[in-house]
Amino acid sequence: MIFEFIKKFIFPSRCIVCDETLPFGFNLENEYLCDECKNKLEFIKEPTCKKCGAMINSNKGMYCVRCETRLWDGFEWGFGLLRYNDFVKESMHRIKYLGRKEYIDFYGKCIAKVYKNKFKDINADCLVPVPIHSSRLNERSFNQAEILAKSISNELSNLHIDLPVNTDLIIRTKNTKVLNKLDDADRNKELKDAFSVRDASGIDKVIIVDDIYTTGSTINEIARALKDKGVDKVYFVCITIVDNL
Ligand SMILES: [Zn+2]
Ligand SMILES: [Zn+2]
Repeated sequence: MIFEFIKKFIFPSRCIVCDETLPFGFNLENEYLCDECKNKLEFIKEPTCKKCGAMINSNKGMYCVRCETRLWDGFEWGFGLLRYNDFVKESMHRIKYLGRKEYIDFYGKCIAKVYKNKFKDINADCLVPVPIHSSRLNERSFNQAEILAKSISNELSNLHIDLPVNTDLIIRTKNTKVLNKLDDADRNKELKDAFSVRDASGIDKVIIVDDIYTTGSTINEIARALKDKGVDKVYFVCITIVDNL
């Protein structure tokens, strides 16, 4: 507690949306968001796509356009915390490229609290962060998905749910290009054999953890690789999901 206090004094928190330094002694409940940014984050609400968890129009059926038009054969379904908007985009960008790892803690805590019951119901063996290639890890020095997974796991354990993080299960064997600029065919080609699963014996259910869900291709590919090695069910959780109403 004292350590936290001192740490805060030396390294004051920043708002996860606008990056402004938050005043010392800021209300603990909102310690990650300044007053101006409180309403800029949009939490995902029902109705949501039964496959990818994105928000959908209330008059739609079960799935978003993306999931209706693509045949996912890897994961079961997934869920996320926020709708992707310009503010979330900025926040994600600063995590990755300005090294603002401290933001991730807010997202991890929120995900654990909001989806506590979902985690309980799924009752997975472990959380598995989407791995980044070793060369990218050298550039950036951390994997944001891994920090997020650890933060979710920590907060769940405070809520008496045991869900460990497994960082050894999957390795990224190929340094893939930026996928969202590619079309479906090129994306699939790029992702082919990009991941390898080490040893999945004794693991039945896995929840993949990532920051942003855009096309779903990466998560689907990892889920397929896991199922090839005998994992029975694969779900995912992420901070933000890009709409595809
Ligand atoms: Zn702010
Ligand atoms: Zn969907």
